[in-house]
This record gives sequence, C-alpha cells and structure tokens, in this order.
Amino acid sequence: MSDPESVCYICHIDGPMEEHHLVPRAYGGRKGKTKPLCRTCHFHLTKASRLKEITLINLRSINPLWSNSETATRATELANIIQKSRKLTESDRNKAMLIQQRLAPADARKLRSLSRVFHCSLIKAIEISIDRTYRSIKRKIPPDLH
Ligand SMILES: [Zn+2]
Repeated sequence: MSDPESVCYICHIDGPMEEHHLVPRAYGGRKGKTKPLCRTCHFHLTKASRLKEITLINLRSINPLWSNSETATRATELANIIQKSRKLTESDRNKAMLIQQRLAPADARKLRSLSRVFHCSLIKAIEISIDRTYRSIKRKIPPDLH
C-alpha cells in the first residue's frame, strides 16, 4: 500500500504532493489542518473557490479531472471551506497577511546568518533587522511618520 500522504486527497493520484491548508494561510489557517494535493488539483482549487456557485458542472469546467462524483464532492468540500473562510475574513483588517518575498541568494544567506547569531527563526531575524535599522535612523524620520 502506498503512503496516504503521497496520494492526492481529491483525485487520488500518486506522486509528489503539495500541502494544502484547509483554511488558507492568508485567511488565518497557517497553523490549521492540511491535506495533500497534487499540483493540478491544488492549482485549480483556488479558482474553484471563487465560483459564484460551486456546482459539479462548474467544477468540471475548471478541471476535467474532477469528472466523477467522488472527486467532485471532495473538490466541492475543499472549495467551500476556502470560500467560507475568505468571506469570514474579508472585512477583518487584522487578518494574517501573507507576505511573499523572494530573496536574492546573498540576502537569504545574510538572513540565515542573523538567525543563527540571534538563535531565532528567520521571521524573527527579519523583525530584529527592521527594528535595529529603524532605531538607527529614527532621528532622521519625521515625527509624524513614527
Ligand atoms: Zn489531485
């Protein structure tokens, strides 16, 4: 029997899987449950979650792989969760914002060095860097921008 984690939750295809956050990270689900999804299902799921009506016919028009009722049911289930969590957080100004930034290799190396020096995570190293830079130039920042 193959490792269940290497099988797509929606289409049951075998192979390399991506980790799908049931509640997307951008809507507060960073530490929530995940399901393994193949690249194709993962890619189409966000689009499916933006459908006005998540119906079997609409889903099939997005991804023909979801042509049998079992795969379509699982795709509907996941798309509904995304849609619901988006609606619940759309007016929440404090929702976790996902900031994606691709660092140049040299900057990534500096960041890893900082996190080792400070014995902290990469995110904390970024926070420390911002804080130190801010404090070092504070007197140059106009008071209304503090
Ligand atoms: Zn799949």
